[in-house]
Amino acid sequence: MGSNQDAMLRMQVAATTRLLVMENIMDYSGHVAVRAPGRDAFFIQSAAEPRSDVTPHSVLLVDFDGKVLEGEGRPPFEIPIHIEIFKARPDVEAVVHCHMELAIWFTMMEDVQLMPMRARAIRWRSGIPTDDDPSHIKTTAQGRKLAATLGPHHAALMRAHGLVLTAESLPALLVDAVHFDENARAQFEVMKAGKKPMGLTEAEMELVEHGEMREFHVGKLWAYYVRKGVKQGLLPADWQI
Ligand SMILES: [Zn+2]
Repeated sequence: MGSNQDAMLRMQVAATTRLLVMENIMDYSGHVAVRAPGRDAFFIQSAAEPRSDVTPHSVLLVDFDGKVLEGEGRPPFEIPIHIEIFKARPDVEAVVHCHMELAIWFTMMEDVQLMPMRARAIRWRSGIPTDDDPSHIKTTAQGRKLAATLGPHHAALMRAHGLVLTAESLPALLVDAVHFDENARAQFEVMKAGKKPMGLTEAEMELVEHGEMREFHVGKLWAYYVRKGVKQGLLPADWQI
């Protein structure tokens, strides 16, 4: 079934999902997806499988009409999120949708904008828009609206619901999700302390960006989290990822 590259991507979908559960970023719902090379299709987990138990074998290959090409089970109901972002953004290889609590809280505060606070959050320098639809994204129209809200950015919040993040690979997506959570927590804690959050200035972000080594950083953190997952018994030690 499929090429070596497909097998690797299936394994990375399973591993990324399990590691997001380990980090309390994903829970009983939410999903990651990655493009299948050379096809208008992507790998994603099935609707009901526990996120902690996804395996390379249980991952589905789904096309841009939502049709399952390989695998058993039905795709998640919110699949229009992934379809419409992949269609709108040729530069995006991987997408996560989840219900990260901290991200949701920032859609419930009047006149508060989540902003880059910590150095790694320069990833979201261009902006973090919020989609105003609080319902589950089950239709093409809703998916298109969310993709339009996301625009050229790497993150979008979803009012009272969750968020989407986009990246160039699944390892990068995992690292972004960790940093997004850290950054939201930083702003939240500053506000909780009764202080005005001081987001990074343009000049500071320029400085950080100048020394950025994203590829190295992603590789380092991916190795760290995979190792942590193996040690905690959440990932099989023989997964070649
Ligand atoms: Zn959702």
